Amino acid sequence: MRVLLALGGNAMTNAEGRARVEDQQAAAAVAMRAVAELIEAGADVVITHGNGPQVGNLLVKNEIAAAVVPPVPLDWCGAQTQATLGFTLMNALDNELARRGIARPTATLVTRALVGADDPGLHRPSKPIGRHLPEGEARALMDHGQVWEDRGPKGWRRIVASPEPREILEAGAVHTLVAAGYVVVANGGGGVPVVRGADGLRGIEAVIDKDLGAALLAVTVDAEVLVVATDVPSAVLRYGQPDAEPIGRVTVSEMRGHLAEGHFASGSMGPKVEAACRFVEHGGLRAVITTIDQIIDAVAGETGSVVVPDRP
Ligand code: ADP
Ligand code: MG
Repeated sequence: MRVLLALGGNAMTNAEGRARVEDQQAAAAVAMRAVAELIEAGADVVITHGNGPQVGNLLVKNEIAAAVVPPVPLDWCGAQTQATLGFTLMNALDNELARRGIARPTATLVTRALVGADDPGLHRPSKPIGRHLPEGEARALMDHGQVWEDRGPKGWRRIVASPEPREILEAGAVHTLVAAGYVVVANGGGGVPVVRGADGLRGIEAVIDKDLGAALLAVTVDAEVLVVATDVPSAVLRYGQPDAEPIGRVTVSEMRGHLAEGHFASGSMGPKVEAACRFVEHGGLRAVITTIDQIIDAVAGETGSVVVPDRP
């Protein structure tokens, strides 16, 4: 059984969302204990992860240090966090596998997600990133071409493009490593967005949605199960309302219906549900949205929101 595990931002920070080094190491240890359990049970695991808090921290460093060291673009931040988080996850996983006496090599790949040069999302910034700033500071950055939006009492926030990932350029390398028995960490943060222009490939100032990147990676590695691990046990209908109802097992058509009715917030649960549906529509056996603590049951489709094909 091949499983694609997508770790949410909360799997790499503490409960309050803090991303100090020790918070990230502790969270990685918890997540990799679950992965080791899955490997021990006989699964092939491919891991991907979010990078929102980590990129947010890099952007603050960019901002504060801009007069001393040149700021780096978003695609660089993406590549840097893929490497750092991959390194942290591998340390945690290697230690956990060793503790269980399991000999499985691990590898991290920095991967690029190819975006269409004509992607409409490139011209419609939609994804809030980084920290909130007072209006005056936001306006100064807008003079440099950035898009910032008034987000109410917390202040202003930068909004960037979030285009569709079309292809993972390192698909062949991921395949080769998986076939050779490696536990692979890849496509973190949804992949580093690149476009192919007249002058060749170049990184772009955008972020790919991690969950949509996970669905593409899952299809790319022919996973049978996609597990989207997050901080809630399931997707919920009428979320936050008195008659809220957790979703258990649903067909992909039913889930598409719930999505169309607007039950899932666009910046959080929406892309997870979209990713689950896409994966199943592309031949996946099931996609599960839940927390990581019951990983074995999740993979078996016995907990969380479980999206299955219309006809088995
Ligand atoms: P991750 O870091 O795992 O990607 P997100 O914060 O992006 O986590 O998404 C998970 C969050 O989605 C939950 O904590 C919850 O607050 C929010 N959410 C929005 N709509 C729903 C819904 N319909 N059902 C469940 N959770 C929802
Ligand atoms: Mg998210």
